[in-house]
Amino acid sequence: MSYQKLKGTLDFYQQEAAKMRFIEEKAKTILNTFGFEEIITPIIEPTDVFVRSSGDSSDIVNKEMYTFNDRGNRSITLRPEGTASVVRSFLENKLYVNSPLTKLYYCGPMFRYERPQAGRYRQFMQFGIEVFGEGSAFLDADVIISAYQLLSALGIKGIQLKINTIGDFISRKDYAAKLQAYFAGKMDDFCEDCQKRLTKNPLRILDCKVDANKDIVQQAPKIKDSLSAASLSHFKKVTDILSMMQIPYQVDETLVRGLDYYTDTVFEFILAVPGELQGLAICAGGKYADLVKNFGGPDIPGIGYAFGMERIMMVMNSQSLFVDTFKKTDVVMICLDEDSKKVGLAFANHLRSENLTVEMDYKNYSLKQQFKLADRVNPRYILIIGEEERTSGIFTIKHTQKNTQEKIKKENIVTYISDKNNENS
Ligand code: AMP
Repeated sequence: MSYQKLKGTLDFYQQEAAKMRFIEEKAKTILNTFGFEEIITPIIEPTDVFVRSSGDSSDIVNKEMYTFNDRGNRSITLRPEGTASVVRSFLENKLYVNSPLTKLYYCGPMFRYERPQAGRYRQFMQFGIEVFGEGSAFLDADVIISAYQLLSALGIKGIQLKINTIGDFISRKDYAAKLQAYFAGKMDDFCEDCQKRLTKNPLRILDCKVDANKDIVQQAPKIKDSLSAASLSHFKKVTDILSMMQIPYQVDETLVRGLDYYTDTVFEFILAVPGELQGLAICAGGKYADLVKNFGGPDIPGIGYAFGMERIMMVMNSQSLFVDTFKKTDVVMICLDEDSKKVGLAFANHLRSENLTVEMDYKNYSLKQQFKLADRVNPRYILIIGEEERTSGIFTIKHTQKNTQEKIKKENIVTYISDKNNENS
């Protein structure tokens, strides 16, 4: 019997796994400069954690969660997103007690029962951040800047930042009522989901995957006409700071985001270059003024975003950005007999303790076969050890790119390999 991975899941192995970790490391490096610290939360949470935060009218809660009852008959859900778990942990561990501002990042798998397609999976990796304790426009802007810096550090070209404000709670209520009045009686050919959204959460009609492009949706009342003076001024400040920082952005009034908890600033980074991946959303986020409070915690505002790591990988592959990602093997040992192999294995481990990458043949391959193996690995150096080298302690080292060979005392080999002058050009 042979098994296959579940639909909508991916295996990452060897170079692909290295690429994923490369993105993660780059993201961590950038976010460390912004003062973020890591949070690792469980992949399983009580189902209510997500229902309470995302809202029972969201697609995620209604259609996409992997929910099951455990053996103790508790309803458990595999996390579909990171924010709810981080808020739960922030409150449970009272992280707000020690510091007025908490900056956290996370990285890990998320699970959504979506229709799989390129760039849309049922298990996918997200790298995300959450900041608690401040609602100012400066923080909103700095958070967006951190995402922008991350994409720049990865070298990704052709990214577009879309930004919008969906106002505070009061503005949203007013806008929802306007939309309900506007859409009433005009929705006969809208999808079933939109029919439900009309009463539950009419804002979601605006970014419906099926109906969003209809004229009637395009001509719907705009959020900006319902915004309070405070929301308008907040948004202006955020966009002014982005302009000052020369971060290009486009205000997109149809951007409302799929989850109930957002207030005021929402944003998305999409790929804008022509081609197969055009329009792909790479990162999304927004401010949530009331989520912590709605969770039963203190009145602490928050803001966050999440990157889809597979999508970053797709874009980086399409722009050939992984060239320098992989460390080349430094040395392949070629040992000519059983005793030399013992010396070789010990010496390989000595080199590894100096942080060099070393491989060797474990079988009794012929010299020719071992050279073939070395060819495949394509190391910087080949070290040859036979009876003569073993007894004299002077090893033969071959520089693969220059195609030169030297005899060097074994105690000088680390220095020789580390000497920049000897490196491959
Ligand atoms: P969201 O949590 O829906 O705001 O999504 C944030 C980012 O995660 C998106 O911009 C995508 O890059 C990524 N993402 C969301 N859903 C999926 C999925 N099903 N498969 C792959 N990536 C996803």
